[in-house]
Amino acid sequence: MNETMNMTARSRTILAGLLGTCAWLGTAAPAQEPVSSPAGARDQRHSGAALVRPSGTAAVASKILLAETTPGNPAAGGVSVSGGEVAAAKPPVSPPDLAPPAVGTKVLLVTGLDYPGHPWQQTAPALKKLLEEDPRLKVRIVEDPNVLASPQLTDWDVVILHFMDWEQPGPGPEARENLKRFVAGGKGLMLTHFACGAWDGNEWPEFRRLAGRVWDPKLPAHDPLGKFRVEIADPEHPITKGMAPFDTIDELYTCLAGDAPIQVLAKATSKVDHKDYPMAFVLDYGKGRVFHTVLGHDVQAYTNSPGVGALMRRACAWTAGIKPAR
Ligand SMILES: [Zn+2]
Repeated sequence: MNETMNMTARSRTILAGLLGTCAWLGTAAPAQEPVSSPAGARDQRHSGAALVRPSGTAAVASKILLAETTPGNPAAGGVSVSGGEVAAAKPPVSPPDLAPPAVGTKVLLVTGLDYPGHPWQQTAPALKKLLEEDPRLKVRIVEDPNVLASPQLTDWDVVILHFMDWEQPGPGPEARENLKRFVAGGKGLMLTHFACGAWDGNEWPEFRRLAGRVWDPKLPAHDPLGKFRVEIADPEHPITKGMAPFDTIDELYTCLAGDAPIQVLAKATSKVDHKDYPMAFVLDYGKGRVFHTVLGHDVQAYTNSPGVGALMRRACAWTAGIKPAR
């Protein structure tokens, strides 16, 4: 699948702290191989997507001495060898632009990889478009979760997690601590759809607290993609106040686990087990505000109902500490 190839080709590593700056390293594009039945539960949770995964990405990357590719240095990105592994020359890649907009509420939409069935290349722009219908919200898409390690994160008001680190380690300790500080210090955090599976649910224990609930592969994943009604569970919260229930076409997630205190704003009833599941909820984290929704499987999931866009916009504003627009 194209999205998988893009996912791995876009993989970059930040090594912050090197000479006091972030060094951006190009990575060798790993070979792709079809996977018949790799990680059990993961594969069962989505049907219809071609399942491919990087072949030994981390192992190969760890053996390759990568030439530094800095902006303005087109000569960089050469071939280097270690332990018999050879990396093909790669063109230099500019780091994402993290300079914030001059005005407005600054929203950093972090994407760049996901489960192969999730077309983040299309859903990220769709989400940005929906959010910017509130002209106060200025959204920048960055296609590398490792930006979470950047000291420039504090220049932004809201971070949206719109990725799942499919079969590779999530952003490392520096990114984790930086994100934690960002939210605990009073900024906003939003998570959409499979971001509940970032850091593989358990790779970073604190993520369970930060996200409120995380993907538990031992639970049934979701109802088949289809139409369901999203009910407003809390009509008094600033995000959902005055909102009417709405129908959407999406995956009704039944896979969240966790015991952090959350306030459920919207819910839906599974057609499979007839139980109610949270579709959107909020929680406090230090001085920060977190909004987490499991809606957003694909582009139409964002656009098929005006209710979805309204929920996303209002939530984004709330996490930023500004009044949700009507
Ligand atoms: Zn999905």
